[in-house]
Formats: sequence, C-alpha cells, structure tokens
Amino acid sequence: MHLKNKIKTTDLLAVMRPYAGEIESAVSRVLGSGIYVGGSEVGLFEKEFSEYLGVGYAAGTGSGTDALQLAFRALGLKAGDKIATVSNTAVATVAAIEMIGAVPVFVDIEPETYTMATDSLRQILEYHKHRFPRDPVKAVVPVHLYGHPADMSRIMALAKEYGVWVVEDCAQAHGAEVSGKKCGAWGHAAAFSFYPTKNMGGIGDGGALCTNDQALADNARLIKEYGWKERYISETAGINSRLDAIQAAVLRVRLKYLNAENELRIRNARKLTSGLRNTGLSLPLVRKDCKSVFHQYVIRVPDRGYLMQKLLDSGISTAVLYPQPIHLQPAYRKRIKVDAELKVTEQTCGEILCLPVHPALSGSDLQHIAETLSQAVFSPELCGENAERAK
Ligand SMILES: *Cc1c(COP(=O)(O)O)cnc(C)c1O
Repeated sequence: MHLKNKIKTTDLLAVMRPYAGEIESAVSRVLGSGIYVGGSEVGLFEKEFSEYLGVGYAAGTGSGTDALQLAFRALGLKAGDKIATVSNTAVATVAAIEMIGAVPVFVDIEPETYTMATDSLRQILEYHKHRFPRDPVKAVVPVHLYGHPADMSRIMALAKEYGVWVVEDCAQAHGAEVSGKKCGAWGHAAAFSFYPTKNMGGIGDGGALCTNDQALADNARLIKEYGWKERYISETAGINSRLDAIQAAVLRVRLKYLNAENELRIRNARKLTSGLRNTGLSLPLVRKDCKSVFHQYVIRVPDRGYLMQKLLDSGISTAVLYPQPIHLQPAYRKRIKVDAELKVTEQTCGEILCLPVHPALSGSDLQHIAETLSQAVFSPELCGENAERAK
C-alpha cells in the first residue's frame, strides 16, 4: 500500500535521479576548470538554450526575478513607469517590477487557462491611455502560468496597437509553445527561472533573459555586470546578476532531457484527466494551438481543505499555487491601486488545487491520485451537489 506522503507535488530527488551521474561529472568539470563565474560553460549554455528556444540571444542571470528586472532596465523602463501584469502569479513577477521602481497595473485572467485575459488587458491599456495621456502603460508582462502559454498572438497585437513592450514571464514554461513557436520567442524579451522546482532547474538559483534584439541583449549584458564594457569601467549604472558556471553546467545536462521530461508531464496530465473525467471537477484545458508543459496540474474543487486532507490521508501531497492574489497580500494590498475588476482572479484562487504531475510519477501513482480524489468527491461528507454535476 501507499505510505504516508509518498506521492509529492515536488520531488526533486526523484526527478534528478536519472541524471545524477551526469550532473556529478558536470560539477567536477567546473571544479577542475578553475572558472566559477561566467566562462565557457555559461557561454555554451546560453548558446544551446537560445537555439532550443529559437531566439537570437540568451543571457544567464542570477535568478528569474533578476532576468525580469534586467529586461525592464534594458528596455529603458524606469521608476514610475506602469507595467501591466496579472495578480495570480509568483510574487516574483511583481517584485521585479517594483525593483526598478515601476508600478504594477493588474489585469484579470481567463477562467479556463488562468493566464492574462486579453479583453481585460485591452480595457486597462485603453483606460490608462485616456485617463493619463502622459503616463500610459509602458509594458506588459504575460505570465505563462502552470506551463500554459498566455494568448501571445492577441497580446502581441494589442502591444503593437498601444505601443507597449512585452516581457514574457516564462519561469513556469520551459518548452511550452503557441502555434509551434516557443514561449520566450514571442515578446520583445523573456525571462526564465532555473530555480530547482521549475521544469528545468539547476541545483541553486539561476535565470536567463532571452531576446531577438541584439541591442537589447547587449544592454542587458552590460547592466547585469556593473555596467562594465571594459573591466572596472562602468559605462552605465548596473547590478550584479550572473549565472554561476556550476549552474550552467548542470543546466546543460537538464536541457538535453527537457523535451523528454515535458512529454512525461503531458502524459501524466492526460492520465489524470482521464481518471478524473467523471468527477465533475474543472480539469485543466489547453487552448487551441497551445502546447502546455504542465508545470502544474491545476483543478478547481468545491471544498479544497477537505479534499487536500483526504488526499494527504492516502499519502498524496497537494499544493495551492497561489492561495492569495498579489493585490490582496499584506505587502501590496494597501499600496497598489487596482483599476481593473479582478473577478476571475479573486474567485479562482479560493478553488484551485495543484495535483502532483512531475515526471518521476509512475502509472500507479497517477491511478492512486485519480481514484482517491474520485472517491473523496463522491463521499457523503461533500455536498450532494457534486454528484449531481457529474451525472
Ligand atoms: C519562479 C518564478 C519566478 C521567479 O524566479 P526566481 O528564479 O525564483 O527568481 C518568476 N515568475 C514566476 C511565474 C515564477 O514561477
């Protein structure tokens, strides 16, 4: 039988196990090279990752949050500028906006994919353009949340119409696609995170800024190392945000297996969906023309606390990403002005539940999750309403 907490939403050891040997030799290669920040491992990783995405340039950074702030700085965005994004995201998205002193402007999400709602985006762009003609929204940050792409063709069209920059937050979407084009290749710039729990993670912090614009890439490279063009001579005021050689070497291993791991996530998601089809719960939908890489498998449930406990009793841990939208969190709710109606954002965060979907799950793990959840949904403790819905 299944032991308590045997099936985890995040199981890094299990995910890394198949490559542990390769990763160890990558780490000792760096140790033996005597070059620990920058150097050829970073250069090679940047080249391989940009080729994987189909973009011109990738620049390694210290984290995904830094990749976002570097993109903003390299685009010339500055303190006081308005940047539109969503409120149901990792707090990092909003933290990066505030790191440069810019002002987050929230937009609602689609109920099916939990990504930026383009009608809400249009309303916000229009509102700020007319209400503040000298201070319109300057940039938009769509977040490809849970591995599902935001509606990039519509967002790019709106961005063009309103003259705003687009910086994609790809921290949860390594390998995701819209119409065959990778997330990270759509916007003027894109930010990736290689935090260990992401679809492609290192053994520490790391990130990358990607773009097709050479001037932007050059600018970002300058800013991420003190504004140096020539060592010790700052051309511009910069910061320190670099990818370590060890992380680059580890990421070169992980990149080789990224497609295969994403396929396992997609297969796992399919199995969960077929096992939960008759429960009446809202299961993940993938928008037409999109490839989701299922960073998370997110369902909506009527009584989250009860179902989480039932699953935990059967050895299955679950998670809630994210329990509270940013604009309602203590650090932000008194400061950030909200102009849009964030109805879907506020409603869904009380109902979402992330089930394990990582690549190291077995077929019987997935079956166990689906069966346990199905039983719990139809148990007498939960209102009869679900049973009705499922018929
Ligand atoms: C993880 C994450 C980030 C931040 O990445 P770090 O590497 O942790 O700084 C940004 N945005 C989203 C959506 C994330 O999930």
